Amino acid sequence: MKYRKFGKLDWKVSALGFGAMRLPVLGENPAAGNPDVNEPEAIRMIRHSIDQGVNYLDTAYPYHGGKSEVVVGNALRDGYREKIKLATKMPSWFIQQYDDFDKYLNEQLEKLQTDHIDFYLLHGLNKQHWPKLRDLQVGKWAENTIKDGRIGYLGFSFHDDLATFKQIIDEYDRWTFCQIQYNFMDIEYQAGTEGLKYAADKGLALVIMEPLRGGQLAKEPPEAVKKIWETSPPKRSPADWALQWLWNQPEVSVVLSGMSTRQQVIDNIASAERSAIESMNEKRSALVDEVRKNYRDLGPVPCSGCAYCLPCPNRVNIPHAFQYYNDAIMYNDPRTARFRYRQEPKEAWADNCIECLECEEKCPQQIPIAEWLKKAHDYLGPRKKV
Ligand code: SF4
Ligand code: SF4
Repeated sequence: MKYRKFGKLDWKVSALGFGAMRLPVLGENPAAGNPDVNEPEAIRMIRHSIDQGVNYLDTAYPYHGGKSEVVVGNALRDGYREKIKLATKMPSWFIQQYDDFDKYLNEQLEKLQTDHIDFYLLHGLNKQHWPKLRDLQVGKWAENTIKDGRIGYLGFSFHDDLATFKQIIDEYDRWTFCQIQYNFMDIEYQAGTEGLKYAADKGLALVIMEPLRGGQLAKEPPEAVKKIWETSPPKRSPADWALQWLWNQPEVSVVLSGMSTRQQVIDNIASAERSAIESMNEKRSALVDEVRKNYRDLGPVPCSGCAYCLPCPNRVNIPHAFQYYNDAIMYNDPRTARFRYRQEPKEAWADNCIECLECEEKCPQQIPIAEWLKKAHDYLGPRKKV
């Protein structure tokens, strides 16, 4: 296993971390919300990873309907707890008062069968959760909890825009680390490359989630993309290319992979063994740029996500609708795109558009927005009853 710097800490993290959000399940649906975990297999996979040198294990309160922390707790018996650093996350959305911080942490310690969490994250910080937790003095709580030994370090995971990311970093000066969604396609999405560098400049360790976009970058790519990958030695799988692109960057500390099968564990460990900072020469980096461009060209709507069209007077989230629509077609994965679109608040759905055309005047790409929104909603929205 290769090991890397973790922000300012005098401790090295394995290049690959085990993400316990897509554990093997007994039914068909390996989603993070499915509580029906195949526990013996999950334990074998977690322990095998640790035996191979993985020293960072990430879970969270809601993963697998609350079952992930229980399974991880069982996996870490028999001496495995001492071999790794354990990370879990406070469910930010449930916190209403100061006492809730202790309430959830203590419940998690019990489920995980441990007396401390090495790396504790505030889960899914965004424009809503951060001000609430900040004003409830989560910083003071964390400092006391670090002193009493129940947590080692405080960090946060993040889902919002770049400005919010910078604001969260700037408004608390004792973050040790943060966890962001980052992969070679999402360089300008959420924190993106700029956020990654911003956090690293401030001394935070960067934990990367969704390195393969929930598996979209690991599956058989579209023909145009496949051809590009094939032009280059060395021959690598698309997943390996995506992971090496991340490990090439010095700001990245650990890449989490939500592994669901033993083969994924074996493949990812082999990839991590080959990883190194600045291992990709210009030619290889250019190849990834070309793949990105080709994926983007497959998206039907030429939306850059700039958000100049917002706000829409009818609250339609125009760039999100186009992103999900493009993703569905680019990655040939309508199921995930539909799921994500339908998770947005209904007021933001594209069918709220009344075709006032205010947004179209502001779009630098001159996209016929109203027309495309109709197509996007027909494709992504709930099926109409006939
Ligand atoms: S055309 Fe539709 S999306 Fe654009 S501003 Fe009007 S209501 Fe909003
Ligand atoms: S202004 Fe145009 S390009 Fe920018 S997000 Fe809106 S639709 Fe997309």
